[in-house]
Amino acid sequence: IVTYRNVHKAFGDVKVLKGIDLDIFPAEKIAVIGPSGSGKTTIIRMLMTLEEPTSGDIIIDGTNLWKMAKNGKMIRANEKHLRDVRGDIGMVFQHFNLFPHMTILENCMAAPIHVKKEDKREVHERAIQMLERVGLGDKLNNYPSQLSGGQKQRVAMARALVMRPKIMLFDEVTSALDPELVGEVLEVIRDIARNDDMAMVLVTHEMDFALDIADKVLFLDNGVIAEQGTANEVIEHSTNERLQTFLHRFR
Ligand code: ATP
Repeated sequence: IVTYRNVHKAFGDVKVLKGIDLDIFPAEKIAVIGPSGSGKTTIIRMLMTLEEPTSGDIIIDGTNLWKMAKNGKMIRANEKHLRDVRGDIGMVFQHFNLFPHMTILENCMAAPIHVKKEDKREVHERAIQMLERVGLGDKLNNYPSQLSGGQKQRVAMARALVMRPKIMLFDEVTSALDPELVGEVLEVIRDIARNDDMAMVLVTHEMDFALDIADKVLFLDNGVIAEQGTANEVIEHSTNERLQTFLHRFR
C-alpha cells in the first residue's frame, strides 16, 4: 500500500534521509530500529504527510503524495488524496496528546465525529469497544489526569483504532513511560498486531518485542536502510558491525 522510492530529506544543510527505498504491504508489521538521529521519526512523519521529502517518491495506494514544482520544491500532488491518506493512517506518539478537558471516551470520539463526520452513535459504540479492548472499559468517564502514563498511552491507542486506519504508526510509544508501565502497553500492541489486519510500522528500542511481532525489521543508520529482513535475520543473525554495536546496547 506504500512505496518509498529513493526518498531524500534534508533540513537545511543536514541530510537526514539519503535514499530510502521501502515497501509496506497490507497487514505487514514492520519494526524500525536504529541509533538516535538516524532518521526513524522522519520516515514516519513523512508517511503521516507531516513532512515532505526533498526529493523522491512516496506513493500511497498508487498515487504520489508530492510532486516537484518548477522551482524544485516539493508540493502536494493532490489535496483530496492527501486528506484521504491522513484518514487512513493512525499514529501513536511518545507523548499521548490527549485533550485534558475531555473524558477518555470523548477523547476517542472527537476525531471520527468532527473530522470524519461519522455517525455519533456508531462512533460512541466503537469507542467503548476499543477502550474495552485496551483494558479501560471501567474508565470511560475519567479524565486523562486521573490515569497513569501506561493507561494514557492505551487511550491513545484506542483513539487511533476507533478511526479504523489501514496503517498504524507507533513512534517510541514506550520510551517516555516508567519501566513498570512498559509491559502493559506492549501487550496491547501485541494484541493489535496478532488480531488486526492493518499494516503497522513501529519505531522501537524493544528488541525482544520486535522479534516477537515484526514481519520485517529495518535497521536505519545515518539516513539509509543499512539492513533489512525478517526479525530473525536482522536481530539474531546479521553480521553488520554497526548493527551489532547498536544491538549490544539494547540487549
Ligand atoms: P531519535 O531516536 O532520537 O528520535 P530518530 O532516528 O527518530 O532519532 P529523527 O527524529 O528522524 O531521528 O531525526 C533525524 C535528524 O533530523 C536529527 O539530527 C534531527 O535533529 C533532525 N531533524 C528532525 N526534524 C527536524 C526539523 N524539523 N528541523 C531540523 N532538523 C530536524
